[in-house]
Amino acid sequence: MRSETMPELLKTILYESRAEFGWDQITLSLQDQEYEIHRLLDSTSSPSSEFPELLLSEEIAHLDRIFEQGRRPTLGPYRARQHARLFPSVDQKLGSVAILPLISNRRLIGSLNLASYHQEKFQPDAATDFMEHLAAVLTVCLEMVGTREKLRFIGLTDGLTGVNNRRFFDQRLHEELERARRGGVSLACLFIDLDHFKRINDTFGHQIGDEVLRRAAQLIREQLRSIDVVSRYGGEEFAVLLMQADLELAIEIAERIRKSVENWAYDTEEGDLQLTVSIGVATTDCINFSDTIEETAHRLIHAADQSVYRAKESGRNRVITCHANGEYRNPA
Ligand code: GH3
Ligand code: MG
Ligand code: MG
Repeated sequence: MRSETMPELLKTILYESRAEFGWDQITLSLQDQEYEIHRLLDSTSSPSSEFPELLLSEEIAHLDRIFEQGRRPTLGPYRARQHARLFPSVDQKLGSVAILPLISNRRLIGSLNLASYHQEKFQPDAATDFMEHLAAVLTVCLEMVGTREKLRFIGLTDGLTGVNNRRFFDQRLHEELERARRGGVSLACLFIDLDHFKRINDTFGHQIGDEVLRRAAQLIREQLRSIDVVSRYGGEEFAVLLMQADLELAIEIAERIRKSVENWAYDTEEGDLQLTVSIGVATTDCINFSDTIEETAHRLIHAADQSVYRAKESGRNRVITCHANGEYRNPA
């Protein structure tokens, strides 16, 4: 109940409780009709792929069938036909299981699935008071953390483009710099500024301008790996974090983004609309890590910002990178 975030709560349920109670396997099935939990986790530094024991699915009819005798915990021998789906990555034969329904507002929202290698561990006629209580507490925790995370998610998302906002970016930048320093890996940052965007607004109108911003965010997103982060940093400016990326990889991705925007054409009533971007690249290899993460973050952003400035100055629609000797260059 002390868990503040969804990853924290999942770690408590899936790992700590397993050791505490001596269960051999534990998984958590949750209905995730709108992929909301999925998106929410992927917006944290612990994406859903880090929790193979978390089974998210659009519909949970298979759980309904397990609890058709009434929505009470069901204990007994493991039966592959019924239970295999709840323990997808088990390495040895399971003996018995306890499947606990999670019920919120009279609706089944998922189940906590416990398994033992021993047949005697979960007996069909055992008392289930403790398990019912556990399921009720867990449901409340999931709802509490879920509500809190949803609010956080809304507060960290840009309403127009649907990508993260600057607040999120700043937060993640600090986390990722810390991680990069500890792991001795490189982190790259791209600043992407739309070229002559004011003209687009002036020529085609603000609404089309908004549409172009949405599309730009999408084009950027499409060139990134799933671990990377994109945010709308300002009005017509996006910032990207490329995890474990050295200068070479950062340039490659930046060039891909530049080209995909250049190749995009928008057919409007006022005529063809074309867009280009100027991209500034900076990596942790080109700045020195300072004693504080704040100062390091400041240096990285400053370097990326200076790179964009130079890209604009030297003609726009290009990538400029910052180097360790303080030089700025066009890699092309
Ligand atoms: P440069 O190539 O030097 O970057 O020129 P620019 O016109 O892109 O840069 P400038 O900073 O002069 O103008 C940015 C414009 O972006 C001005 C502002 O009205 C527009 N803008 C900022 N936010 C939004 C938005 O949410 N929607 C729309 N439609 N326009 C926006
Ligand atoms: Mg601009
Ligand atoms: Mg700008």
